Amino acid sequence: MPLASPADLSPLPNAEAPRDCPLCPRLVGLRLECRAEHSDWWNAPVPAFGDPQAWLAIIGLAPGKHGANRTGRPFTGDYAGELLYATLAKFGLSEGEYGADPADGMRLKGAIILNAVKCLPPQNKTLPIEEATCRPYLMEAIASLPRLTTFIALGKVAHDSLCRSFGVPLAKAKFAHGAVHDLPNGLTLIDSYHCSRYNQNTRRLDAAMFELVFERAVGLKARSAVSE
Ligand code: SF4
Repeated sequence: MPLASPADLSPLPNAEAPRDCPLCPRLVGLRLECRAEHSDWWNAPVPAFGDPQAWLAIIGLAPGKHGANRTGRPFTGDYAGELLYATLAKFGLSEGEYGADPADGMRLKGAIILNAVKCLPPQNKTLPIEEATCRPYLMEAIASLPRLTTFIALGKVAHDSLCRSFGVPLAKAKFAHGAVHDLPNGLTLIDSYHCSRYNQNTRRLDAAMFELVFERAVGLKARSAVSE
């Protein structure tokens, strides 16, 4: 049976890279290594996951090796996903129970998860050239969301990639946990430390800090609904 393509699994099929996207040689090399070692893993660009009518887009850095790169769904099956999906559920942004498996039947409501870079990078570190090369896919996904008002950027790389996408000078929009930035077209960007295992283990980020970011996003949405 042919392997699924990212577009087959995506709520935004027109914004997905092909399974064998050749554009980032370093990431292609790692993808081939992973395919040789773990033929039952996803090992391909990871598609968006969530609601195509989302008002909130959560922008991650890139797939984790044992999470999205293994399962094919963002943040699914790794430590970072535990906190992210628990928080989405707490704020009514998901339906069904997260089971660390794309077959768990869980859905997002009003939210979607995208990555700044769609392929697994070595040591979880992307290069600026890879961020730039994958940015058109991110922009296409963003342009495909008619109700989008708000981004939560998980970490500085996602923050910078969004600012560059919208032509916002980085000096005018400094990354800081909980900071709110106005983007062109009335969109809002809220920063968060990434919910990685490292950040949680070092107490840079805890559940309360993460929830504060989502509280801010939901609060801004409620205020804009009142003023409409
Ligand atoms: S990171 Fe993006 S542009 Fe680069 S190879 Fe993967 S899908 Fe293609």
